[in-house]
Amino acid sequence: MSCVVPALSNPVEQLLSEISERHATDLADRFYEVLLTEEEALAFLSSSMVEERLKASLVRWVIDLFRQGEDGDEAFRQQQRKIGEVHARIKVPLRLVMHGASVLKARLGELVLDSALGRAHVAHAIMRIDFLIDEAIAVMSEAYMQGSVRRAQVDESYRLFALGQDIAHERDGQIAALFEWLQGVLFLMFQGGTANPSTLSASPFGLWLTHRAGLIFDGNASLTAIEALISRVDTDILPRVSAAHNAKQTEAMNVPLAELQSAVQEVKFLITDLFQSVAGLENGRDPLTRALNRRFLPTILSREITLANSIGTPLSLMMLDVDHFKSINDTHGHAAGDLVLKQVAEVIADNVRLSDFVFRYGGEEFLIVLVETAIHDAEVVAERIRQQLASRDMRLPAGGNLRVTASLGLAAYDNHPDYNQLIETADTALYQAKNSGRNRTVIAA
Ligand code: GH3
Ligand code: MG
Ligand code: MG
Repeated sequence: MSCVVPALSNPVEQLLSEISERHATDLADRFYEVLLTEEEALAFLSSSMVEERLKASLVRWVIDLFRQGEDGDEAFRQQQRKIGEVHARIKVPLRLVMHGASVLKARLGELVLDSALGRAHVAHAIMRIDFLIDEAIAVMSEAYMQGSVRRAQVDESYRLFALGQDIAHERDGQIAALFEWLQGVLFLMFQGGTANPSTLSASPFGLWLTHRAGLIFDGNASLTAIEALISRVDTDILPRVSAAHNAKQTEAMNVPLAELQSAVQEVKFLITDLFQSVAGLENGRDPLTRALNRRFLPTILSREITLANSIGTPLSLMMLDVDHFKSINDTHGHAAGDLVLKQVAEVIADNVRLSDFVFRYGGEEFLIVLVETAIHDAEVVAERIRQQLASRDMRLPAGGNLRVTASLGLAAYDNHPDYNQLIETADTALYQAKNSGRNRTVIAA
């Protein structure tokens, strides 16, 4: 590669490091100014996030770029690989990265032209800028491609797994949830006073449809039909039912109520179709706790982050680790540890919704993705789990029982598109809960 790298001459090297240090902030401003005019980029970069975090990283990147020696710098290259992996996780299109690079090259070129160097040095400096930026982008792109391929494989494995779950059970549970919602609406409509029934899309069934069915049955025609029906129920039929009810026109309620019932029946048939279109395949749940295998975490978290961004709903992450679990194994044996762990998982499952995702993250550590949940609601769930755990008698295989406690860390999704950040934040909160005495919930600052 050295044949294409112009050998460094002192004035050029000096100029480039001076320019990068003096103008790094301007360069970063220019970079994001241009990128934020692109609609595609807006999906990844909210302006406040750019101000808070990304600009500072780009300033450092520009400075480090020109601090590399003649043959590059392994630490810098390593850094570019990481950036490429982050881009792959966030799904930043490569085209945007290329565009960003050309913005930087153009501005750096202008700065070099403004310098007092002679023509030969100017040419040399511009070639060097080109080379260094292209090199960095090449390393980034390579890591990006590898990351994307890995993610696609995980996506596929989740789909296979999801199809293999206890689908009859899931189907019946969701049909029951659908009719429960209908019952609730009917109940309100036969009471006096004014009533504003909650929409089908906001019901447990609606949440399940968006978060779980949307993932498992993505692209299925029945799913599209169900979504259209739900939208008709929420925006057309339901408002007409409530309007008639609130105007005390009982007769006028008959037509929209009949429409509502038949729309719900139709949704039920479509749900049955949806489940019939899938065959039972591999099972990817942990057999002891029934929690999801953590290899599906990247797929699910990145999808939930995309959903939270597009719908604008909150998202919270909970990390739970059983306190002093090792001593249970040590005192009562491994089989006792296993049985206790199973009961811990039951308490967790009893306190989250079907649309949430419970992962077995480590031995006695669980990670829970609470969809459409703001952090104060997540705290309520966490505290309920913690208190139920602490007050429940855990059965032991040889008879008798014991009590356990757990520590919990919570993190709110804060618009940073990289899900690893969110996991690390929850993990840090869990660590604080452990360090400050265990059997408690800590919310990440
Ligand atoms: P603390 O978290 O409060 O700091 O203490 P701890 O004792 O729970 O912490 P640590 O993470 O060091 O130990 C966890 C132990 O959990 C280690 C391992 O023996 C045990 N463990 C992990 N997975 C299983 C499992 O599936 N079954 C059983 N019986 N034990 C397990
Ligand atoms: Mg533990
Ligand atoms: Mg642990």
